[in-house]
Amino acid sequence: MQDVTSNDSISARPTPRRDPESSAAPTVSAGHDPGPAPVDLLRRLRARGAGDPVTHVERVPARVGVPAPWPAWAPSELRAAFARRGVVAPWQHQAEAATLAYDGGHVIVATGTASGKSLAYQLPALATLLADPRATVLYLAPTKALAADQLRAVAGLDLEGVRPACYDGDTPRAEREWIRRHSRFVLTNPDMLHHGILPGHSQWSGFLRRLAYVVIDECHTYRGVFGSHVAHVLRRLRRQCARFGATPVFVLASATSGDPATAAGRLTGLPVTAVTEDASPRGGVTFALWEPPLLPPDSTSPPVPAQAAGDHDAATDLVQVRRSALRETADLLADTVAEGVRTLAFVRSRKGAEVVATNARRALDDAVPGLGDRVAAYRGGYLREERRELERALLHGDLLGLASTNALELGVDLVGLDAVLICGYPGTRASLWQQAGRAGRSGQEALAVLVARDDPLDTYLVHHPEAIFGAPVEATVLDPANPYVLAPQLACAAVEAPLTPADLALFGDGAKEAIDQLVEAGALRQRPTGWYWRHRERPEVDLRGEGGAPVCVVESATGRLLGTVDGGSSHFLLHPGAVYLHQGVSYVVDDLDLADGCALVHAEEPDWSTHARDVTDLSVVSVRSYVDAGPVGMFLGEVDVTSQVVSYQRRRIATGEVIDTRPLDLPTRELRTVAVWFTLSPRSLTSAGVQQADVPGALHAAEHAAIGLLPLIATCDRWDIGGLSTALHPDTEAPTVFVYDGHPGGAGFAERAYGTASAWLRATRDAIAECGCETGCPSCVQSPKCGNGNNPLSKPDAIRVLDVVLENLPA
Ligand SMILES: [Zn+2]
Ligand SMILES: [Zn+2]
Repeated sequence: MQDVTSNDSISARPTPRRDPESSAAPTVSAGHDPGPAPVDLLRRLRARGAGDPVTHVERVPARVGVPAPWPAWAPSELRAAFARRGVVAPWQHQAEAATLAYDGGHVIVATGTASGKSLAYQLPALATLLADPRATVLYLAPTKALAADQLRAVAGLDLEGVRPACYDGDTPRAEREWIRRHSRFVLTNPDMLHHGILPGHSQWSGFLRRLAYVVIDECHTYRGVFGSHVAHVLRRLRRQCARFGATPVFVLASATSGDPATAAGRLTGLPVTAVTEDASPRGGVTFALWEPPLLPPDSTSPPVPAQAAGDHDAATDLVQVRRSALRETADLLADTVAEGVRTLAFVRSRKGAEVVATNARRALDDAVPGLGDRVAAYRGGYLREERRELERALLHGDLLGLASTNALELGVDLVGLDAVLICGYPGTRASLWQQAGRAGRSGQEALAVLVARDDPLDTYLVHHPEAIFGAPVEATVLDPANPYVLAPQLACAAVEAPLTPADLALFGDGAKEAIDQLVEAGALRQRPTGWYWRHRERPEVDLRGEGGAPVCVVESATGRLLGTVDGGSSHFLLHPGAVYLHQGVSYVVDDLDLADGCALVHAEEPDWSTHARDVTDLSVVSVRSYVDAGPVGMFLGEVDVTSQVVSYQRRRIATGEVIDTRPLDLPTRELRTVAVWFTLSPRSLTSAGVQQADVPGALHAAEHAAIGLLPLIATCDRWDIGGLSTALHPDTEAPTVFVYDGHPGGAGFAERAYGTASAWLRATRDAIAECGCETGCPSCVQSPKCGNGNNPLSKPDAIRVLDVVLENLPA
């Protein structure tokens, strides 16, 4: 959710001037000197080292805005309100989407960062509220912060009788009843809709009966398992509205994505028209692909401290082959800040963001003492006051550089930056463009740099720019038919009102089977009038999947809450003994209490970093589909995966040397999910020249690279998927490589890999073969999260294995 504030800027102004008084989202750039031109800046950056790290420069041209007249149906009162905010006329795409929605069609507007998507839904929704004094609007945002921003924007229009209000977990009880009865523009999030509004639908009957529009903002964030849950929450909303006789129009706003109409249709269950032609103006971007240099093969230089200092994504027990992307990004950030260029660096892990900020600060202070104060780290887990302070500093120019995770949740419009550094491919082209879209303000030229990590996908991309610049952005993947989502959602629906056969079509494929299973399990009872929930308590269903509740990090001496870590990462980051970084300050974890969701830490600066390890076991439950290709078999099916974080290594920060490995006593996690796997006959391996003793290393290396390349074809993150390889698996009785979805019931990734297996494995094979290393490195066959310490691995045999698969598999 790297761009939750992106559509907050109403950019529908032929003139670039913005009224600072009435603007909902001030740009950060007032009066700031933009520094050198992007092309000159890039030339200076690349001239720094010995070789040229830039593998490609793409020039993304500027775009001229296309304004449109106000639609005839837009009341003058509303036009005047927007004019007061500086919006003289809408852009073409805003007017088109608004009119489609006003005419009663479901519509998704999927355009770039800062293209002013909010006007597209504000216009029809507010026009309807002004025309019909009884009508209501429900607005959904993925985060409370975005809902609060939207509240400011709508309230700032000062329209009589609209009475906009946020309704979320923070809303005081005393205000809730007033909101239910009197607000006509309620802003909330899917979790509150699921946990609060739908279960309490009788209290909301007046609001739902008159519901004219449902606005779903930043809807591309509803993907994977979370997206599948939200899809059913929306179906439950539609069901309740229908009971009260309302059929609201859905208006969705999305970042640029592939096939948005289909994704929006899957999310809402309704036919949706897409508006994708972005008519807002933007400046040109110079986009560079940057590969950190290889360190000399017999380098005696120690591994870089930046990486050893804590990016747990990084495999630092290996000989460092390339300079770390974190170190490179920190240097680039220091260089751009020194040039007075306002720069945002996106770093994938929270630890990484802290490390980049710390190193950039240090480098700047070495040059000019005190200059380091103009760089800070930012991530989602910070407390509200800390976030506000960083935002304020950036707004006023006290800060010039910010290293952030993708979970950027700033309450200010951060579009007006001069440069964006992207440390590591963010997983999808859609995210890449979202992040790059932060650069460039008021039509000015900007610089974007993708710094490749030592990773097969990143390495592949910086050498295949056509895979970035010549390919369309990915579609948002979600699967409402996932039985692990469908069954609990049907249980929630049954509590809200008994399910009837007429509901089956609403909930889609698999609904009947899921209901039958709920009946069999004793959760539902079938009566002539429908299926009834049998229990006293409501089912407990978490929309965010198995990640679990966030774990609080508390300093034991003071009781101070330092921040939070999501449940899924807590075993890795907060195990007893873990070194945890917060704003560059180092803490050591004393205790992780999983029952209370709390980790106790104390401030300490040891000279080692910690790196957690896990072990995995897998068994095949059923085969859904397979391809018999002679000596090769390709399969899709259900598997059971058991994994456990079992130990951690302590490594010397200065040298990367492993001090020791310590055992951990954390519970196992069980996962039934979907996997894709391939098998090879031992004979085919022998004839391809793979010695028997090398089979485990060959499969293991192929597995690592295949996981690394999967995000190229499925909209997932390397960390969303897992793998396992073995020279003889008891269930397949053959040498086998498994790749599985890391979410219960699957999230559609393995399925996509199965559907595009030859393209996926071809890219995998090429990535390994084209890597300049001799025996394997993190850019090809080594994995940062290998439970076996990247042993054994055989790079040349991995190519042979994949050749056998590709020769036999039908394209
Ligand atoms: Zn390599
Ligand atoms: Zn491994």
